[in-house]
Amino acid sequence: MTAENRMTVLEKRDAAEGMTLSDRPVPTPGEKEVRIAVKSVGIDGGVEGPLYRWEESYHRYEPHLPQVFGHEFAGVVDAVGSRVDGWRGGERVAVEPRISCGRCRNCRDGRSNLCTEETGFSPHGRKSIGIDTEVPGALAEYVTVPARNLYALPEDVTFDEGVFLELLAIGVHGVDVSSFGIGDRVAITGPGSAGMSALLAAREASASEIVMIGADADEATRLPTAREMGATSTRTVGEGPLDDPVDVFLEASGHQSALELAEASIRPGGELVQIGVYHGANRVPVDLNEFVNEEISVRPINARRESDWRRTLAIASSIDLSPVVGPAFEMSDYESAFAAEADRAGVKVVLRP
Ligand SMILES: [Zn+2]
Repeated sequence: MTAENRMTVLEKRDAAEGMTLSDRPVPTPGEKEVRIAVKSVGIDGGVEGPLYRWEESYHRYEPHLPQVFGHEFAGVVDAVGSRVDGWRGGERVAVEPRISCGRCRNCRDGRSNLCTEETGFSPHGRKSIGIDTEVPGALAEYVTVPARNLYALPEDVTFDEGVFLELLAIGVHGVDVSSFGIGDRVAITGPGSAGMSALLAAREASASEIVMIGADADEATRLPTAREMGATSTRTVGEGPLDDPVDVFLEASGHQSALELAEASIRPGGELVQIGVYHGANRVPVDLNEFVNEEISVRPINARRESDWRRTLAIASSIDLSPVVGPAFEMSDYESAFAAEADRAGVKVVLRP
């Protein structure tokens, strides 16, 4: 803390490029909330990255500035609300950023990622810590979150790796709900954090072949990392469709060129799992006739369910996540961190408040 009951935050203050170190009061947890001392927070290339650069798709935040963002994070329980059971100070935790009601049909079905009651300001209209205008995020020394959003961090998982668990759970979600079967062949477009998570999930689920496909800019770092993490081969989108179509294609880039490649690289009767979001596009053209003729299923997924957290935590201890987290920066060195993110350094750039 900078002074008694004050904390350092990295806030988006102005409708222009950049963010600013500032100080705010340390938040007090509500009765069903906990306060987390944030140890590591990720920069999402689809949220904090474009917000920092002040890209047009985020200009709608202007009336709500200043705001503290940051939604991928891990830390230590620092204080608990009066009606919180089962958590105490000092516990290491990862956090589900999406806020859910626990009462609606989807929440009761275990699909809190699709809660219909907690609506918010995120691009998809849902409420998330550090994305919604009403819920300050984790680019701060402390953040308060609903107790129901906590997951205990396995002992041998570092805080930086803890940032990656909510991402790994997206990959687990995609593979789990797909038609994937043991020994199937998969391809993935987009070797960022979502695609790398799909790779890890497919590997843990015993895929016989995993082809990771990236952009030319991924050849230096991310495609070699994909091979290190279990991809059996890597290639670029420019090399065109696969000669040998796969059973399940996980599209995690949100680029039209990747989708077109996927359409041409799935076997008849196979499946497209759509993970990537096409930022800035209202409608995305697909050759639906081709999908009908070939009985190719399309399975979109969004975020993760509680069961994906359970599976992810179960496998996190046996996976070395260190190649996909970092580089890490102190929060005071945020300019270097955002430059690294824009430069595709590593897979998940993290800041340490
Ligand atoms: Zn709900």
